[in-house]
Amino acid sequence: MTPRLRLQPEAVGMGMTSQRVRDRLVERLREAGIADERVLNAIRTLPRHLFVDEALATRAYEDTALPIGHSQTISQPWVVARMTEVLLENSPKKVLEIGTGSGYQAAVLAILGLEVYTVERIGDLLRQARKRLRQLGLNVRSKHDDGRIGWAEHGPYDGIIVTAAAPALVPVLVEQLAVGGQLVAPVGGSGSQSLVRLVKREDGSVEETTLAPVVFVPLLSGTLD
Ligand code: SAH
Repeated sequence: MTPRLRLQPEAVGMGMTSQRVRDRLVERLREAGIADERVLNAIRTLPRHLFVDEALATRAYEDTALPIGHSQTISQPWVVARMTEVLLENSPKKVLEIGTGSGYQAAVLAILGLEVYTVERIGDLLRQARKRLRQLGLNVRSKHDDGRIGWAEHGPYDGIIVTAAAPALVPVLVEQLAVGGQLVAPVGGSGSQSLVRLVKREDGSVEETTLAPVVFVPLLSGTLD
């Protein structure tokens, strides 16, 4: 069942965060090749401006990444849409996200009715993300930890989405993937990264596909308060 969003009054206000501005973003994503109506609807529904600082709210419906503090960013809407679209292809029920950040990607997955687990290494970002998700009435389970170890307790997952880039796919995350499940992650250094999809087949073998060039902040080790 798709959860109902508990919208705050300011989320339905006028001006640069109005429904019209959001609809325009959705049209831009459609023109840029996003075809899954469920994903487009989730983006149309979610108030992205509540996931950034108030000073940046007027830019929240541009198709661009924005700073969220601690040198981190909320991903570009097209990237969120594309990763979500890819993840939905094998009809997942339970998904794991590494890199909660603002909580926006997790919110998109939750509003699509998925059971969402997310891990963030920066405590301050996670506290803010939890508050936003709670205010929107979205049920997302989260943990403050180094996501490079995944979250074994709730695995295996039908889908795993990594929203920070590493030079190579993390083997532990592949282990926590269910048979038939898929992992979507940016792979590469700070200069050039590709969005990679890995599918775990019945016989345990994996199939890797490169989807698109992307730019993500790096996947780092350890945790910060
Ligand atoms: N999905 C986020 C994007 C945030 S940017 C959103 O929708 O806003 C990537 C995030 O990954 C940052 O918040 C960063 O702190 C986090 N991150 C980087 N390395 C990590 C790790 N090893 N474990 C967990 N989170 C990590």
